Amino acid sequence: MAPILLDGKKLSQKIKDSISQEISKMVSSGKKPPKLATILVGNNPASETYVAMKVKACHSVGMISEKIELPETTSTQELLQVIRRLNQDSDTHGILLQHPCPPQIDERAAFDAIDLKKDVDGVTTLSFGKLSMGVETYLPCTPYGMVLLLKEYGINPEGKSAVVVGRSAILGKPMAMLLSEMNATVTICHSRTQNLSEVVRQADIVVGAVGKPEFIKSDWIKPGAILLDAGYNPGNVGDIEISKAWEKSSYYTPVPGGVGPMTIAVLLLQTLYSAKDHFTPPLK
Ligand code: NAP
Repeated sequence: MAPILLDGKKLSQKIKDSISQEISKMVSSGKKPPKLATILVGNNPASETYVAMKVKACHSVGMISEKIELPETTSTQELLQVIRRLNQDSDTHGILLQHPCPPQIDERAAFDAIDLKKDVDGVTTLSFGKLSMGVETYLPCTPYGMVLLLKEYGINPEGKSAVVVGRSAILGKPMAMLLSEMNATVTICHSRTQNLSEVVRQADIVVGAVGKPEFIKSDWIKPGAILLDAGYNPGNVGDIEISKAWEKSSYYTPVPGGVGPMTIAVLLLQTLYSAKDHFTPPLK
């Protein structure tokens, strides 16, 4: 079978179109559209771009966005006050705090101040705990975006061996949890993993979540493996050497146009769920 491209651009558009339609119905029945608040602390140019993309995506589906920009010198207490105000605001359905914050900020305390019912980016400790326990919550956007791609293409991870390279709290770890929820047998790799290439060679599903360009080499890939590349590095390359590895795969995500566009679509989707007063439906 020729390798199949997992088209995140197409699926994210499909998700956004359906969100748009739902919001139109909400509005025509007299309800307010969902609202996502984005908080940007400081002047990190990459973060400014990401927030601008999220605001634009909100508008494209008819959502309201409140963009809050705080100075580089903001203290943790000042940030917490903003988050508490948004938690209290009944018109705000989702809160996104753009990562990374300047170093003086206790980022974990700030994330964890977000009300679980508004944690549409899936970043709180409580959300992660619920995800780990298989309890409904909002899910971290990039991992859930990869899960939705698998579902769209009818790929069932059950019984498959999955190797997730990277264990960050927002990406690698939750992706491993989600794959385990879907009954894959999961190995989590990190910077101290020994014989990484051998571990990856055993995998039916490989997740690149390292943050190093083309780090996972094509000759580590087992023929027929499913390749999910969450990495996004300068030069428009991911964490997997996809230019060569795709030929060996059964399914693969391109970079760009694979996992990346799914992240924002999931953020909007979970904001819509919040406006409808429910969490993200179970995976199975
Ligand atoms: P991160 O917090 O820097 O984590 C990187 C992970 O890779 C760590 O767990 C680290 O291990 C592991 N690692 C580093 N060097 C390694 C090595 N030599 N061998 C094996 N593992 C190694 O990064 P992140 O935030 O998870 O992001 C990873 C990538 O995903 C980046 O390219 C980022 O741009 C991308 N990303 C994309 C989206 C999107 O919307 N598409 C969203 C989030 C992230 P240790 O734990 O041992 O340090």
